[in-house]
Amino acid sequence: MDSIIRNLGVGARPHNTSSMARKAIFWMRRDLRLHDNHGLYEALTSGYEVVPIFIFDREILDVLPEQDARVTFIHDELADIKNELTSLGSDLRVYYGRPMDLWPSILSEYDDLDAVYTNHDYEPYATSRDEAIGKMLAESGIGWHTFQDHVLFERDDIQKNGGGVYTVFTPYKRKWLAHWESTYAHAQLNENGSLYPSEDHQGSYAKLEGMPMISLEAMSFGRSEISIPSRTVAQGVIRNYAEKRNFPGLENGTSKLGIHFRFGTISIRAKAYKAAKLSDTYLSELIWRDFYSQILSNFPKVVTESFKPKYDNIPWRDASEDLDKWKTGQTGYPIVDAGMRQLNETGWMHNRVRMITASFFTKHLLLDWRLGEAYFAEKLLDFELASNNGGWQWASGSGTDAAPYFRIFNPTSQLEKFDKQKTYVKRWVPEFGTPKYTSPMVDHKFARERCLETYKGALAN
Ligand code: FAD
Repeated sequence: MDSIIRNLGVGARPHNTSSMARKAIFWMRRDLRLHDNHGLYEALTSGYEVVPIFIFDREILDVLPEQDARVTFIHDELADIKNELTSLGSDLRVYYGRPMDLWPSILSEYDDLDAVYTNHDYEPYATSRDEAIGKMLAESGIGWHTFQDHVLFERDDIQKNGGGVYTVFTPYKRKWLAHWESTYAHAQLNENGSLYPSEDHQGSYAKLEGMPMISLEAMSFGRSEISIPSRTVAQGVIRNYAEKRNFPGLENGTSKLGIHFRFGTISIRAKAYKAAKLSDTYLSELIWRDFYSQILSNFPKVVTESFKPKYDNIPWRDASEDLDKWKTGQTGYPIVDAGMRQLNETGWMHNRVRMITASFFTKHLLLDWRLGEAYFAEKLLDFELASNNGGWQWASGSGTDAAPYFRIFNPTSQLEKFDKQKTYVKRWVPEFGTPKYTSPMVDHKFARERCLETYKGALAN
C-alpha cells in the first residue's frame, strides 16, 4: 500500500547514469504487458539497463493437456511483446524449463547483472519458488525486488480495525472501498491511464540481439483453436452490468475479461478506474477478486482443505459415472448441461451458471468440490486458483463467506429465473425439448434431502 502512495509522483525518479552499463532482469509472469506494469516500471526507472525475460515453467506446463488454449494465448502474447521490444533494439528472452534449474545459467549469461525485478504472485507454488529464487540470487549478490501488480490490494493491505485479515466479504468490501478512496481514487494517472507508466521509459531496455523463441511444438503443445475473448469492452457493457450480468443468454452481459486479468494482458488498475466511474457492481466483482486472492495468500491450506474444517467430514460419494455425466453436460438438467457444454467448447462459463453447476456437483451429486474445481481449472481460460477455489468452496458451503449448506439451488427454478426464454439452453443443448434429450440423472427432491441429511450428519460432530 505504501508503494501506491509513494509512487503517485510517478516518473519523477532521476536516472543514475553512472550505472547505466549495469543490467537488471525483469522477469515477466502473470503480467504480460509493457504498459502500466509496476515491477517493469520500477526496473526501467532504476538506472539499470533492463533485460525482460519470460520462463515457460515446466512445473506448470507438464501437467497440462496437449492442446491448451491458455498456452497458445501466452505464446501469442509473448510473440507480440517480443516484436515490440525487437523494434526498440531490445528483446524478450524466453526460456523453457524449471526456474530453479534455469536461473543459474541465466545469471551466467551476464557479467554485469545487479538485480532482478518482478511482480508478486500469490499462489503457494509461486511463493515458495520465489522465496527459493530470491535466496539463491541473494547468495550470488544479486538484488531481488518484487512489487504488487496483479491485484488492487494484496495480502494484508485491508485489515480489521483491531488487526487481522477479513474472512467475510461485506466488511472487507467496506474497508476496501475506504482504502480505494484514500489511495487509488485520487491517484495521478498519465495520459494513457497508467499509474506506473512503464511505456514511457522505453530507452531503458538493454540493447540485445534477438533470440529465437521456442515454438509450441518444441514444448509438446499443439495450437488450440479456441478463440480468446477481446481485451476491449464496450463502455455500455460495464454501464449496464448490474442489470444484465445475471442472464447467461445475453451475448454481452459480462465483460469476459477474466483471461486478461489472469495473465495481466490488461492492467487491473486501468480497468478499475474506469469501472469505478461506470458501475459499482462491476467494481464490486473486482473486489471479490482481491478478496479471494488475499484469502489464498493468508490461508494457503484452502488449496487442499476446506476453509471450515468440519466440511472435510462430509462423506463425498465415489461415483465416476456421475462425474462424467456432469463433465460432458449429460445430467438432464438443461442449465447445468448448457453450462458444462459452453465450458467444454469455449473455455468460458457464465458466472451464474458456474454457481449452479458447482452447487449441483457438490449438493445434488454429493461429489467432492476438489474434483469439480480441478475440472474447471483444466478448462477455464480465466482459471485463477484463488477465485476458482473461492467459488468452489462457496458453492459447497465450506468456504470463507459461503452459502449456508441448507441453501440448495434448484436448477429448474434457476433456469426459469435466469433463462426464461431458454435462449442459453437452446444455444448449448440443441436436443433440449426433443425426445433425444436425456432425463434427469437424479431427482431434485431426493437429492436435496440426501444432501441435507449428509451435510447435517457430518457437520454435527
Ligand atoms: P465479469 O462478470 O465481467 O467480471 C469482471 C471480472 O471480475 C472478472 O473477469 C473477474 O476477474 C472478476 N470477478 C467477477 N466475479 C468474480 C468472483 N465471483 N470472484 C472473483 N472474481 C470475480 N473467476 C476467475 O477469474 N477465475 C476462476 O477460475 C473462477 N472460477 C470460478 C469457479 C466457480 C465455481 C465460481 C462460482 C466462480 C468462479 N469465478 C472465477 C468467478 C466468476 O465466475 C468469473 O470471474 C467470471 O464469470 C468471469 O467472467 P467475466 O470475465 O465476464 O466476468
